Amino acid sequence: MEIQQNFDYIIAGAGASGLSLLYYLIIHDDFFGEKNILVIDSAFNTKADKTWCFWDHDHPFMPLADKSWNQLTVVSHGLEFQETLDNFEYHCIKSEVYQNRILNSARTSTNVQLLEANIQKFELSNKKGIVITNRGNFSADWVFQSVLKPPEFEESVADTSLIQHFTGWEVETVEQRFDPDNALLMDFDTNQEGGLTFFYVLPFSENRALIEYTIFSDQLLDKGDYESAIQFYLEKKLRLQNNQYQVLRKEHGSIPMEDRRVPGYYNQKVLNLGTVGGLTKPTTGYTFTRAHHHSNEIVNRLMLGKYPEPFSGSPYRYRVYDIMLLYLLKYEPESSRQIFHDLFQYNRIEKILRFLDEKTTFTEELEIFSTLPYTPFFRSIYRMKHRIFTGA
Ligand SMILES: Cc1cc2nc3c(=O)[nH]c(=O)nc-3n(C[C@H](O)[C@H](O)[C@H](O)COP(=O)(O)OP(=O)(O)OC[C@H]3O[C@@H](n4cnc5c(N)ncnc54)[C@H](O)[C@@H]3O)c2cc1C
Repeated sequence: MEIQQNFDYIIAGAGASGLSLLYYLIIHDDFFGEKNILVIDSAFNTKADKTWCFWDHDHPFMPLADKSWNQLTVVSHGLEFQETLDNFEYHCIKSEVYQNRILNSARTSTNVQLLEANIQKFELSNKKGIVITNRGNFSADWVFQSVLKPPEFEESVADTSLIQHFTGWEVETVEQRFDPDNALLMDFDTNQEGGLTFFYVLPFSENRALIEYTIFSDQLLDKGDYESAIQFYLEKKLRLQNNQYQVLRKEHGSIPMEDRRVPGYYNQKVLNLGTVGGLTKPTTGYTFTRAHHHSNEIVNRLMLGKYPEPFSGSPYRYRVYDIMLLYLLKYEPESSRQIFHDLFQYNRIEKILRFLDEKTTFTEELEIFSTLPYTPFFRSIYRMKHRIFTGA
């Protein structure tokens, strides 16, 4: 196999996770300035196709957020649960702002090369990771990839597999219609026939907001169905007629929600990052913060002269919660709807967000579970016992 060039590190895929790794390598250029780094992606032209939201009190990308909120609201069964967060805020970053910031730093770093190419596969040769692309083959001591599902993953089977699919419209209204201090995190008061469904409204200013329609189910909808749902919400819930707003941007996505484990390595010298590295939390789809923690850990280990390690995965008890909830989301969407209602009715939003971040104590988790209907959980434990008790 002909190798065009050898590098210290190759980052294959310059999305949320690949770029977070690049960011941490660049800010530690006193250590990595001498290392040759290649970043490969099919295209480096920044795309305004995603909004990444996360909650944190101390994150390097907080200053890039389009908007941060400390007031959040959830609507369910006609009730409104509103809260002012004490310890962190909910932040949203536009993908193009994030990409521009990191790629601009990369372009001024003499040790970083960007290559537009289609990655076809990864191999291992002479203890190096090899990236096979349509523009040649490249080797490195370490390849960090967020592009291809590892072969072992394709061979494994999920018991419960769902898709979180969504469409968002960023709209600008003629009049001032939004409260920019308060984000509507979830509005469950909508048709629930196709699976657990909610809208959210992230107001960036008094007349600009992102309205997103999200469903957890195993079937995607026709494009027109997402659009008409958003139009309906704008008209009926937000009381906005067609001529009172213009759509600035649309985003669409689908995130896998599965209970099978994702291998950390593609091969001995190719480490998986991001969604293909199993960093997407199966029951929420949130990945952004985990990707940053993982990248930070990789860079810290490299600086200590240690091997980079894959994402360690959720602690066992959180994995069990995810398996149970995923089962209910798929097979008992009605119970799931009630669970979410009770969750927000009887618990602080801040505590729920810490729970989703896997940062609560076991006592806090017991407190949360004591507010929820328990029979569906017993059913899910019974149905999923083979995964829960074997830790698979
Ligand atoms: C619309 C949308 C909104 C989301 N919002 C949130 C959110 O608010 N908060 C959150 O935590 N998570 C969110 N997620 C989930 C998750 O954070 C994102 O999917 C995130 O982009 C995953 O990062 P990644 O690096 O694994 O993949 P990506 O960001 O998709 O990066 C993969 C990169 O690989 C490149 N690539 C792919 N195939 C090839 C190939 N064959 N050759 C070369 N390059 C290739 C792509 O161009 C891309 O740049 C969202 C997902 C979507 C789709």
